Amino acid sequence: MPCCLASRVPLFVCALLCTATGALAQGDDSVMRTDHQTVSAPDIYPGTTPRSAPTHAIRLTLAYFPDAGWSPETVIDAARVAAAVLGQCQVVFSALELHRLEGSACYHYYHTAVARELAHRVPLPRPTVYFVADTLQRPAFDAEAIGRGNSTTRPELADTVWITRAARDLGIVLAHELAHVLMNSGEHVEEPGNLMRPETKPQNTRLDAGQCARLRDTAAANGLMQRLKE
Ligand SMILES: [Zn+2]
Repeated sequence: MPCCLASRVPLFVCALLCTATGALAQGDDSVMRTDHQTVSAPDIYPGTTPRSAPTHAIRLTLAYFPDAGWSPETVIDAARVAAAVLGQCQVVFSALELHRLEGSACYHYYHTAVARELAHRVPLPRPTVYFVADTLQRPAFDAEAIGRGNSTTRPELADTVWITRAARDLGIVLAHELAHVLMNSGEHVEEPGNLMRPETKPQNTRLDAGQCARLRDTAAANGLMQRLKE
């Protein structure tokens, strides 16, 4: 019995059906990685040169459900924008690890219990950005970041970002949510033009020196980024 919004089942029932006591008990529990490709730095920064010498490198994992409407091209383009934004912090994306996921429609929707099950069944290196159809969480966010600080009751989800099809300005959203994870902070700022304003917009891309330092230092300490040798 597929769990999906089209079934007109109330959202909270739908979410419950997707958990281990619902869909899994009914055998509708398959989820798997069906393809993996690595995008290397020259293909992340085509025809561009870094603005300044990078001091830190990140290897970002991207997991997407094609059946939820995501294409590898869309996902890679978003990561390219995020890479350009984080370049101001002397961070270089050394590679993108792209994983194609397929499985029960349950897994196309972000919900804590379902996401924990997905992360458990298909372990992926962190940080990981998951591209899903929608969210069943309330309040509903177009994108959500889970760092170390807000994952104590859901440790499988630490250092992950979940982006739904409702997200606009995808690359900026990815940069914003990833910065939350890398800084291990849910804080927002009010400074005009800053990436960490509550509202993500194309013109909000700046990070100040303090934010960059916190992002690099916290991510390196948490094993999410590597310091490059001088
Ligand atoms: Zn935010």
